[in-house]
Amino acid sequence: MLQCGISRRSFLVFCTSLMVAAPYGLAITDKKTPEEVAAGLDKVLRPPIIWLHFQDCTGCTESMLQTSAPGFADLILNVISLEYHETLMAGSGLQARQALDEAVKRYAGKFILVVEGSIPTKDHGIYMKIAGRPAMDVLADVGGKAAAIIAIGSCASWGGIPSADPDPTGAVGVADLMPDKSIINIPGCPPNPYTMLGVVLQYAADGTFPETDEQRRPKFAFDRDIHEHCPKRAHFDAGNFVKQYGDEGHREGWCLYEMGCKGPDTHAGCSTRHFNEIPDVWPIGIGAPCIGCTEKAVAFKVPMFQVVQLHTIAAPPTAFAPISTTYSTISPLATGLVGIAVGAAAGAGYIASRKFSRAEDDESVPGSVVPDNKSKPESSDSDRPQL
Ligand code: SF4
Repeated sequence: MLQCGISRRSFLVFCTSLMVAAPYGLAITDKKTPEEVAAGLDKVLRPPIIWLHFQDCTGCTESMLQTSAPGFADLILNVISLEYHETLMAGSGLQARQALDEAVKRYAGKFILVVEGSIPTKDHGIYMKIAGRPAMDVLADVGGKAAAIIAIGSCASWGGIPSADPDPTGAVGVADLMPDKSIINIPGCPPNPYTMLGVVLQYAADGTFPETDEQRRPKFAFDRDIHEHCPKRAHFDAGNFVKQYGDEGHREGWCLYEMGCKGPDTHAGCSTRHFNEIPDVWPIGIGAPCIGCTEKAVAFKVPMFQVVQLHTIAAPPTAFAPISTTYSTISPLATGLVGIAVGAAAGAGYIASRKFSRAEDDESVPGSVVPDNKSKPESSDSDRPQL
């Protein structure tokens, strides 16, 4: 690290502050600033990590490999000690199995086990064996000796795609098999790598996990729903909905609620921390509805185009994200009319006026209705694409 011209502490402060904590608008823990967390990291030994794959597509690992601050190489060389990872290690076969056995023995009671993929339970192992042992036995053995477990991805958190109906393997998450173990779930398909980094950095700093919700998810990344922070939220409040992929509303970037977007029912940080470190690279950002991959009751259970019930939306926000639109001229008359009709906050009036302006320009624009922030869209099955 010093050969690169910066100290380890400077590097950790940078990556902790800029890439992990700042995007969530808070410190990694509610007690410490990023600088304090990084200062702690500077003093501790790198925690040993053993990473096991079960029924997975390796997308979670792939997601982790896309980080740059810290990059995965920096993470495993400067922050943690990655003792075993089947995708990244050079060894295979007997050599790999010996490496796993030795790591478990050497760090028994001290290592963090990261689990990627669901565990098949039906018929005790006929669907998956690792070095001749059923997956359930491998998890019980290695997980039983771990200090704590991080279940990365929706599959490891509660079954994910393999558990979708008809669930031929009896796929479950880690906590289903080891309910009393210290486990933190980082669901997502794939999960956001910076959530994982935040959890690992805090554990490396002081040996604790962040505060979690009732589904064992770290609150710092899962305490708000997608709909709260969605850049298309203003379109939702204005009643502008995509009716079909490729229609004018879709091209204009309107709300995807009627296309089955699960954003109102999904807690995750995707709308504030995008993927591959490229702005707008997340499902809604590229014009696809949220599928609710971080929610156990939604992902791979609720049909893709089924419209979710609006449970938590009591009132629109007082400030909206900007709308990108080619219809940028705002008619003063329309602004005044909307201000009178809606009688709402200035931000809401502004957004609505833009909609009025469009409607006046072109009455054929889909969804050109008087905005009504309280009564939210009635969806029509006939408008919705069929699976
Ligand atoms: Fe965004 Fe989906 Fe909510 Fe529309 S329904 S504002 S696309 S999260």
